[in-house]
Amino acid sequence: MTEQPSEYQKILLDINLSTKEIRRIPIPQKDIENYIGGRGLGMKILWDRLQKPGIDALSPENPLMFMPGPFSGFPIPSASRTVVVTKSPCTSPESSPYPKASTVSYSNMGGFLGPEIRFAGYDGIVISGKAKTPSYIVIEDDRVEIRDAKPFWGMKTDEFDKTLVKELNNQRFQTCYIGPAGENLVSYACILHTTARAAGRGVGAVMGSKNLKAIAVKGTGMPKVSDLKAFNKSLNDVRGVFKGLTGGMLTGFWREAGTAAVIQMMSDDGLMAVKNYREGTFAEIEKINAKTAREKAWVRDFACYCCCLACKKSGAIKEGPYKTIVHDGPEYETGVMFGANLMISDFNGLMKAIYDGDDLGMDIISAGNVIGFLMEAYEKGYITQSDLDGIDLTWGNVDAVLQMIDKINRRDGIGDLAAQGVKAVAKQIGQYSDEFAIHVKGLELAAHNIHANPPRALCYATSNRGACHLSGDD
Ligand code: SF4
Repeated sequence: MTEQPSEYQKILLDINLSTKEIRRIPIPQKDIENYIGGRGLGMKILWDRLQKPGIDALSPENPLMFMPGPFSGFPIPSASRTVVVTKSPCTSPESSPYPKASTVSYSNMGGFLGPEIRFAGYDGIVISGKAKTPSYIVIEDDRVEIRDAKPFWGMKTDEFDKTLVKELNNQRFQTCYIGPAGENLVSYACILHTTARAAGRGVGAVMGSKNLKAIAVKGTGMPKVSDLKAFNKSLNDVRGVFKGLTGGMLTGFWREAGTAAVIQMMSDDGLMAVKNYREGTFAEIEKINAKTAREKAWVRDFACYCCCLACKKSGAIKEGPYKTIVHDGPEYETGVMFGANLMISDFNGLMKAIYDGDDLGMDIISAGNVIGFLMEAYEKGYITQSDLDGIDLTWGNVDAVLQMIDKINRRDGIGDLAAQGVKAVAKQIGQYSDEFAIHVKGLELAAHNIHANPPRALCYATSNRGACHLSGDD
């Protein structure tokens, strides 16, 4: 019997950095049917690979997976996502017989990486082991190489993104990489793609623990369509929805400002994380909302692979001390966590903080949460300026926030503690400060005032990766 054409590549690329063994493993049909792809398939593989409880998330035994969604690589709007699946370095139970017990971590990013993985012939990449020295992986269809990344170790992401393209001598590669925060095992380091698309929630620390700086992928194939007629009909329907023809999506709304479109509304409705989640409305929100971003910074709209929404915004700081910076954002989460949650209304200062967070490869949700917690602890007298290595960490103080970001990245002084996440910081400070340390299972909440949104609070409380703004729906 001839095999039916399939939308799947049915091959997993398995790379062991300790042994340098590279294998192409067939994915069982039943796993594809049962787990579909992306997060589901990644979780199944994680379950199979973690052979015993209590494995340290930062040990060579923890696999790190890059799993395209099932539609990744097809010209379907908003379907380009890549999910990074691994065991979490951020979460920890209240009690466990295993000192390194934690839950799962999965984080997805848009862009072009997932499609390229499928063009190269894979439904996922699994990295295990640990390279002896800093390394990066180059994948060109069947050709896979582990190369020396020593010259790039310590390089920030903005510079590294350009350097890697030159090194590869081919702009067709899609890349993802960590910054110094991942190398320094900041627990909430992220993995970046195109310098600002980020898989956060700690997956960058796992990549750093493997001495893996980057992955570059280039493929020449295409995933196949088994029923072209049905596919084209569905594609037209989906595009119709995205264009708003059926009233299903407010395409213009999201295209105009991306997720930043809701910054003003969330504040007006009292739903925003403000002042370490104590309040829901920021009186100075107009200084950092989407309208201001459009006037002051945004110069270009752009999209992920085949997405007609084009919700991404690239901007430039046009005046003041940070004038040379060109960067994406603010988006809702980055704009609020380094903005309203820290009471920062200086738009250019906010852009600089977002740029620094991304450039160092740091999850801005977690970093904004930890810094907000320290601001509250400082305000209430739980800690002194001396505890903060001399930083006057007051609400709205941009310079102090920039110093904290730098210290967290270098794990210097108070930054070393802050790099371990808000749960660890509260435990160290004590004095019942955990009452205003806002996390679930150790993972910091995103930019929502859950006091005003109980359904979302329930989603956060019950998510298996800790506080997850992508779990459930309100
Ligand atoms: S452009 Fe925006 S909506 Fe489209 S896939 Fe990228 S992030 Fe999602």
